[in-house]
Amino acid sequence: MYYPFSWLRSLIRLAVYLVIFALVGLYLDDMLFAVALGATVLLIFNYWHLYKLNRWLWHSRKMSPPSVRGVWEHIYEGIYYLQRRNRNKRKELGELVKRFREGSEALPDAAVVVDAKACIIWCNRLARLELGLKWPADAGRRLDNLIRHPEFIEYFHAGDFKYPIEVPSPTNPAKTFEYRIMPYGEEHLLLVARDVTRVSQLEEMRKDFVANVSHELRTPLTVINGYLELIPADEDDPFMQKAMTEMSAQTKRMQNLIEDLLVLSRIEASSERIYENVVDMPAILAQIEREAQALNAEKGHTLRFHVDPALRVFGVETELRSACSNLVFNAVHYTPSGGSIDVYWQKQHRDARFAVQDDGDGIAQGHINRLTERFYRVDKARSRKTGGSGLGLSIVKHVLSHHNSQLDITSTVGEGSTFSFILDEELIAEQNK
Ligand code: ADP
Repeated sequence: MYYPFSWLRSLIRLAVYLVIFALVGLYLDDMLFAVALGATVLLIFNYWHLYKLNRWLWHSRKMSPPSVRGVWEHIYEGIYYLQRRNRNKRKELGELVKRFREGSEALPDAAVVVDAKACIIWCNRLARLELGLKWPADAGRRLDNLIRHPEFIEYFHAGDFKYPIEVPSPTNPAKTFEYRIMPYGEEHLLLVARDVTRVSQLEEMRKDFVANVSHELRTPLTVINGYLELIPADEDDPFMQKAMTEMSAQTKRMQNLIEDLLVLSRIEASSERIYENVVDMPAILAQIEREAQALNAEKGHTLRFHVDPALRVFGVETELRSACSNLVFNAVHYTPSGGSIDVYWQKQHRDARFAVQDDGDGIAQGHINRLTERFYRVDKARSRKTGGSGLGLSIVKHVLSHHNSQLDITSTVGEGSTFSFILDEELIAEQNK
């Protein structure tokens, strides 16, 4: 039974105890001695309990406290209560850790936890199997000393974990792993490695397939188109005339589509380094301007190019040409006749910015995020009429991602659109800096 501790009761007890000694002292005619004796006995009593408490805390195996009374009972009960509470908490925590471990062992991915110094704190069974970690031998060892692939080390040290990377497995080079790192807690990192061998094989197959099919289709189409151009139009037969014109237009469209598919496959597979060659963007834009003016003949837009003649950048020339021309030609195609189009290639702060601004119909917000998807078109019928393949903005997206940039689209329905991208100052050729 637990009685709450009362100071008043304890003081009264102490007072009664000392009064008894004082009365005995009074009777024996030495009150001071009697009170001093009483105090000494009390001191010895308390020291004895301190000794017992110390023994119980440090040397006894028993959890339950020895049975005592008074203040000491409260102290023992208090300590016992705290101990029990801690034990329950520890048990709960232990259960939680056990469940967490069991859960992470059931994960289909390899998981490793490292601390702020990149030392391994914990890893699951798949990490031991697939990443070749030894447990507990590797506990406390740096992760970058154990997974030695240069790409992984670069990724790990760069500290930018927004995107995962794909790297061959350290134990089996035939397997590809996707490493994803998630910072959590106080500077801890959780590395999750997933076997993506099959996915990357399928992705490779897809790329090869598209590239091969496009390549194989190119020759027959060129032949058909060549013959169609050679066959003289029969002016007396309007049906044949219409058929010939339509066939020519459709084969041209297919040729454009195949050319764009090939460009896209080439860019996807491109391993060309962007820092090796300087691209003369002003010269490229001058050529694009001439081509755009030719396209513009029937549209009658006002085309203005604002080009910094000295702004040259590092990059892949064919790719940048393709991206810029796609954006300019799209503006010409999709802006209703008589519009005005401004093309900018200028420095913005320390970076280089390319932008195509038109005052066309604009694009509704819902479409903007999807525009760079393959074959995505806002108005299918109209895009087909322009001869567009639906791959133009996908090509732009891939080119820009290869140049560490991205396409920015802002548009207001009824007012026009701006398609732009920024190339980092690191890509600007030296004399322009
Ligand atoms: P396409 O070959 O059909 O032009 P793109 O990928 O180049 O394909 O463009 C995708 C779609 O984005 C187009 O079909 C068109 O609807 C829209 N679009 C692109 N540029 C513009 C623009 N400047 N103004 C309005 N719509 C545009």
